[in-house]
Amino acid sequence: SKSNGQNQYCFFTPDMNEEVFKKLLLESDLQKAMKEGQFQLYYQPQVSVAEGEVKGYEALLRWEHPERGLVSPGDFIPLAEETGLIVPLGRWVLEEACRQMMVWRNEGSTVSRMSVNISAIQFQQPDFAQVVKHVLAQTELPPEYLELEITESIVQEPEQAVPIMKEIREMGVKISLDDFGTGYSSLSYLKDFPLNTLKIDKSFVDNMEHGSREKAIVDAIINMAHRLEFNVIAEGIENEAQLQLLSGEACEEYQGYYYSPPLPSSDIESKSSFPPL
Ligand code: C2E
Ligand code: CA
Ligand code: CA
Ligand code: CA
Repeated sequence: SKSNGQNQYCFFTPDMNEEVFKKLLLESDLQKAMKEGQFQLYYQPQVSVAEGEVKGYEALLRWEHPERGLVSPGDFIPLAEETGLIVPLGRWVLEEACRQMMVWRNEGSTVSRMSVNISAIQFQQPDFAQVVKHVLAQTELPPEYLELEITESIVQEPEQAVPIMKEIREMGVKISLDDFGTGYSSLSYLKDFPLNTLKIDKSFVDNMEHGSREKAIVDAIINMAHRLEFNVIAEGIENEAQLQLLSGEACEEYQGYYYSPPLPSSDIESKSSFPPL
């Protein structure tokens, strides 16, 4: 604007000012949220296509902001990554997910996998493998129950990532590649990554309904994953038609609103048929 009047020493346009201010506010809110325990985990079932049985849960972070209400991870995780806060926050997620899985295990749940999202920044910390080991020891969760979901963004440093992935696998922890096909789509790294699971991104599932070429792509991804001996989980299944299409595809598991949205732990307990103690 032309007339700044007395505010002529202001470096920012009013818009920028507001944006920077909002970001600073959110940043200090994030730190406060950690201290005050405003974060919570929701859990989304991972279900077998053939039997409709819950095989695992994916832990998804939720922020219950005292004034703003529920803030979506898409809005605060990028900032947590930028500020480095993702490191302690991600550790809290890992601890809480393992602790919860141990509770369910002790209650007799037959679900044997907890999947936890790991940011590339978290994964690149020199002590990351040690942190995982420590959390498992502390919560006493058997390592086979834990699966770490990483994304293709760690492919930026494959020479560093592969040895860490191997170290994690040697502990008995599983690794899945999240959002497959949306990132740095180079196939060459797939042969080097010691993965258990490949997660097909929702965008492929959505396109599958649109035609035979789209379906051929999903088909090819699943075939390739199986040749590499990875399990496949399809993400974002929202309706019966999508599940029908998928069941012709030899895909092991799916996740999506069709079966269940992510739920707080108390709702998972009331929905499951844990045998009585
Ligand atoms: P993501 O790992 O790809 O998680 C799947 C997202 O899809 C989740 O969104 C989930 O709620 C949503 N979703 C599940 N089923 C359906 C469906 O049928 N339809 C639609 N439209 N969406 C579905 P959410 O919980 O908002 O999380 C968004 C992203 O934030 C995650 O994507 C993940 O990248 C990140 N995130 C969430 N929790 C964590 C965490 O603890 N640590 C890290 N580093 N990232 C996290
Ligand atoms: Ca994920
Ligand atoms: Ca995903
Ligand atoms: Ca995603």
